[in-house]
Amino acid sequence: MVNSISDQKTFFKSQKTKDIAFRLNYLKTLKSEILAKEQIIYDALYKDFRKSEFEAFVSEYGLVISQLNLAIKNLKNWSKPKRVRSSIITFPSSDYIFKEPYGTVLIIAPWNYPFLLALEPLIMAIAAGNTIVLKPSELTKNTSKVITELIEKVFPKDYVISIQGGIETSTELLAQRWDYIFFTGSVSVGKIVAQAAAKHLTPVTLELGGKSPCIIDDTTDLKLTAKRIAWGKFFNAGQTCIAPDYIIIKAEVKQNFITLLKTEITKAYGENPKSSPDFPRIINTNNTSRLLNMLKDVNVVFGGDYDETENYLSPTLIDEPSLESNVMQEEIFGPLLPIISYTTEKDIEKIIWNYDKPLSLYIFSNNKNFVNQLLKKYSFGGGVKNDTLIHFSNHRLPFGGVGSSGIGAYHGKHGFDAFSHTKSIIKRGNWFDPPMRYAPYSEKLSLIKKLFRYFA
Ligand code: NAD
Repeated sequence: MVNSISDQKTFFKSQKTKDIAFRLNYLKTLKSEILAKEQIIYDALYKDFRKSEFEAFVSEYGLVISQLNLAIKNLKNWSKPKRVRSSIITFPSSDYIFKEPYGTVLIIAPWNYPFLLALEPLIMAIAAGNTIVLKPSELTKNTSKVITELIEKVFPKDYVISIQGGIETSTELLAQRWDYIFFTGSVSVGKIVAQAAAKHLTPVTLELGGKSPCIIDDTTDLKLTAKRIAWGKFFNAGQTCIAPDYIIIKAEVKQNFITLLKTEITKAYGENPKSSPDFPRIINTNNTSRLLNMLKDVNVVFGGDYDETENYLSPTLIDEPSLESNVMQEEIFGPLLPIISYTTEKDIEKIIWNYDKPLSLYIFSNNKNFVNQLLKKYSFGGGVKNDTLIHFSNHRLPFGGVGSSGIGAYHGKHGFDAFSHTKSIIKRGNWFDPPMRYAPYSEKLSLIKKLFRYFA
């Protein structure tokens, strides 16, 4: 492992990755290899947690291909030095922002979108000109194997390598000195990564999680709201970092909403979601027991069916859990949806400020003032009015958390920027050398003050 990293550092110093044609060539080869393995990727995701081909395409494979297309199309432009206006104070000069790769970077991926969350940062790290060590999740063995084979086929090891393994491997990797670390995973492991990075002052992106609220008032179209929440919550069986974690709903409309939500869930997954081809499984037995534990002290009003031998847990609605219950103590990350009612906006505040800054926040309302006020008041990574999850899909929007839900952001060009150091360069002209800044300063100060005021 240590050898691989030092080989990559040597390769980076060779300057080969600074060549845009070199990067483009590898991105194109990666794309054709992924296209050739499309069915193998779907099969691996199905074997890992029964993810349907539809969800595998829209939330993993399709997004990876579109990020590849975007990078291939825009790489030349993204990586060009950008000229900015010069300051009169440095006249004559031309001023530039250069994008340079950090060097050798570590990417650690989670299991919940195991293909997307390993490949998307990888694509942008390649586009930015880094060498990369990727550690995919140990919990999705089949997908991680396919990723590793893909990388072995496309890249020499001193350029890009995938190292499979669990906590031990991750710990060993984190002990090395990196030029950048990109981590996606839980808040608790995020803190371990931040500590390891701090030892070498390594810059990081931390894409973490948290309890993302979904607020519903009494002005919204409740049926459409129920449909969009059922989709966003139970997609990937609730194992989505930006899934609505819990609902805060105006008391008067709660019962009606629960009835509509039950109908929408049944429409999507049938009377018995266990036999639905579209409803995935929980990733492993640890997570299944963790989720079942959350059901012990609460009022289940829908679902609650499970089969531990299959890691199956049905879409489940929980009515009015206390904030002290297990389900409200940590990020749920599964198909359980607590519903809590509010009467005044103070009630909303008490709930949301009980937790750290969430990764997402959703508001369903047709009251403009109410929406704008909430958007301004609460700090969160990103969110949507009148829908769930979809802010993830626009590559023009930076995606990331704030506070304990994460540091930094990526997607599209923001991903390229995340893996690039921004270097500010002034190219100074020699044909004119104003005497103002040089000692003796004598009476030059008043002139300098004027220049600062008007032309800086
Ligand atoms: P995790 O933190 O348990 O694991 C993520 C990665 O870290 C894995 O590769 C794992 O091998 C490694 N790891 C685990 N324990 C470690 C340790 N003690 N030391 C060093 N490395 C360790 O997360 P997970 O269970 O794979 O994923 C679920 C979490 O990820 C949820 O909290 C979810 O919200 C979050 N998530 C965030 C995003 C995002 O984009 N913000 C996306 C997906 C998932």
